[in-house]
Amino acid sequence: MEEKALKFAAVFLPVLSLFVCLFLPFFPKIHTWAEEAREARLAEAEFAASQQEMEDLEIKEEPDTGIGPKGQLNLRLPDGVDGSKVHISNDYVTQTIRIEIPGTDLAYFDSYPISGSSSHIDTMSYTKEGDEGVIEIVMDRVYELDMDYDSDYYYFNFLKPHDVYDKVVVIDAGHGGRAAGATKQGVREKEINLAIVLQLREIFAQGDDKIGVYFTRTDDGNPTFDQRVQLANKSDADLFVSVHNNSLGNGRMSRTNGTQVMYNETSEESRVFRSEERRVGKECRL
Ligand SMILES: [Zn+2]
Repeated sequence: MEEKALKFAAVFLPVLSLFVCLFLPFFPKIHTWAEEAREARLAEAEFAASQQEMEDLEIKEEPDTGIGPKGQLNLRLPDGVDGSKVHISNDYVTQTIRIEIPGTDLAYFDSYPISGSSSHIDTMSYTKEGDEGVIEIVMDRVYELDMDYDSDYYYFNFLKPHDVYDKVVVIDAGHGGRAAGATKQGVREKEINLAIVLQLREIFAQGDDKIGVYFTRTDDGNPTFDQRVQLANKSDADLFVSVHNNSLGNGRMSRTNGTQVMYNETSEESRVFRSEERRVGKECRL
């Protein structure tokens, strides 16, 4: 019995050490993968918790004949409800348009369905929140809204970002919510990332209005990785910048410092921007 155990140890231990040697270089990566998986789970759980039950709404398909209501989507206003009482928000990160309209219930939309074309719409649903009816429309991509109303209808037209802007930029503050990112001496990466991004927002607000800028988050939210990526894909972004502030695993100060630029090696455009960023970085130091 002892001999068997010795034989087993004689084979097992070298195999184990070989395994450790082979995978040692990947250990920091394995840690990163585990951390990313944990953050993805946190973000998805936060998003799921924010979702509520809603009833599906049908669209009355109406080809644009130039006659009748003039929007891509037309919402009939209930009697006595002025268009100024309707509140609309457009969440670019989830491509969800939210319309709060008083004086409606589900039966109202059976009598007066929203009409127009559903070709850009993934889902449309309705729920009641207090006195307000809330319609949520999930679009197939990011749109800017062009809206108007008269005494009978609210009109919605959807414009692609590049129809409005020459260049489209998506800026992502890394981490957020329960995912703090790198943490050192009580300083949390997610807060530094957000502070940088909020400053960028101010700079862009004073700049060229031909550049459209979308943010994955401007508060302590934590969009999922997929939502961050889809904001860029679904807005046809020319540039996606994700702001992170990393730290090394050990607790000591390190000689490793400075700016790190990660880019897609297979993309020539990414490569150009990376070298451009380095050049600007040098100029800043002069
Ligand atoms: Zn980070």
